[in-house]
Amino acid sequence: MNPFRFQNPTALYYGKGQLEQHLVEEIRKYGNKVLLLYGGGSIKRFGLYDKVIHLLREGSIEWVELAGVEPNPRLTTVHKGIDLCKTEGVHLILAVGGGSVLDCAKAIAMGVKFDGEVYDIYQRKAVAKDALPIGTILTLAATGSEMNSGGVITNWETKEKLGGGSPYTFPKFSFCDAENTFTVPRDQTIYGICDMLAHCYEHYFHPTENAPLQRRLIESVIKTIIENARKVIDEPTNYEARETIMYCSTMALNGMISMGIEGDWANHAMEHEISAIYDIPHGGGLAILFPHWMDFVSQEKPERFADLAVHVFGINPAGKSTSQLAAEGIEKVREFYRSIEVPQRLADYQIGSENLERMAEQSVRFGEIGKYRKLNKNDVLRILQAAL
Ligand code: NAP
Ligand code: FE
Repeated sequence: MNPFRFQNPTALYYGKGQLEQHLVEEIRKYGNKVLLLYGGGSIKRFGLYDKVIHLLREGSIEWVELAGVEPNPRLTTVHKGIDLCKTEGVHLILAVGGGSVLDCAKAIAMGVKFDGEVYDIYQRKAVAKDALPIGTILTLAATGSEMNSGGVITNWETKEKLGGGSPYTFPKFSFCDAENTFTVPRDQTIYGICDMLAHCYEHYFHPTENAPLQRRLIESVIKTIIENARKVIDEPTNYEARETIMYCSTMALNGMISMGIEGDWANHAMEHEISAIYDIPHGGGLAILFPHWMDFVSQEKPERFADLAVHVFGINPAGKSTSQLAAEGIEKVREFYRSIEVPQRLADYQIGSENLERMAEQSVRFGEIGKYRKLNKNDVLRILQAAL
């Protein structure tokens, strides 16, 4: 294992009734005026907006609103939020939505306390020294943003999508009630599953020696996602399945299963370049890339793919070589993606070869990507070409 220090300060409220009981009490710890941040209006359609407003009113909490956070949230919206927080003297950002709203809140929170352009933090030209407190009410199981400090912002002018964060951007509290995910449309449910699964794979493929418990923890999350995927897709109001999937998404990226290991993260780096230009759903891009990345990397390093085959997909290793097992495991990964009817190729999003070179170049802008197997621009290009 690598030496590590672990601290996750987010107060996590899971389940029914928690919001009514604890939202106001949590907000009051930080002040009495919030920025209510949300997306394109789904929270109004399924009633959560009214519930939150009622609780704020009853608790004598003042609020200002910023609606319209885009899926793949944009820097322009972050700037609007920073201005609003500053002019209104907001004490806490209450983000109500999916990962995009939560990530946008993190960028605004850093920007309010940052003297200069917040995007510099994402471009790794500066580091955040502070942030406004954030609280979240999650409505979509996918990113884990409810219990981590990271976020991804798109600069639509430059067609860049960059991840960033700081120790100050862990939400102070997050409310995760699976009922708030009942109305997530089928396609977004599937993309969410692909994203949380991708977070598990990113951790699973690490170069660190001696991490047997981490391997088993990650395998458990992967298996639980795969077992419950069909259920949430077919029965969107199945509380137990929604809750299990939501918990998987939180656990996949809150640091609990990845202490002391250094995840690969090449697929996320490559996917961000695709959605930066084509604005496709993050989970859809990841589902396309992973099998091709696996094909490429397993040629040189089949070992962990063989682990995946045996421990996740239950393939009998008797009489099989590591490479054979790896290939069978990767076929199982593909089979699962096919079973949930997620796009298989870039062409499914009408993406051709026109920007491959640029995407490959951009994905290594900070140097080679990937930890299990380092990738240079040419490697990335080969993977993208295979995904066409
Ligand atoms: P999202 O972009 O937040 O939401 C996708 C769509 O789902 C939106 O149109 C949204 O509509 C709708 N939606 C959300 N909740 C709903 C509900 N309960 N009922 C009906 N519709 C609902 O999706 P996401 O996958 O959670 O977030 C994606 C973003 O997170 C990407 O930018 C990705 O790069 C980033 N990401 C972040 C992390 C991290 O650790 N921070 C990790 C991975 C990915 P409304 O806008 O109307 O609400
Ligand atoms: Fe992700």
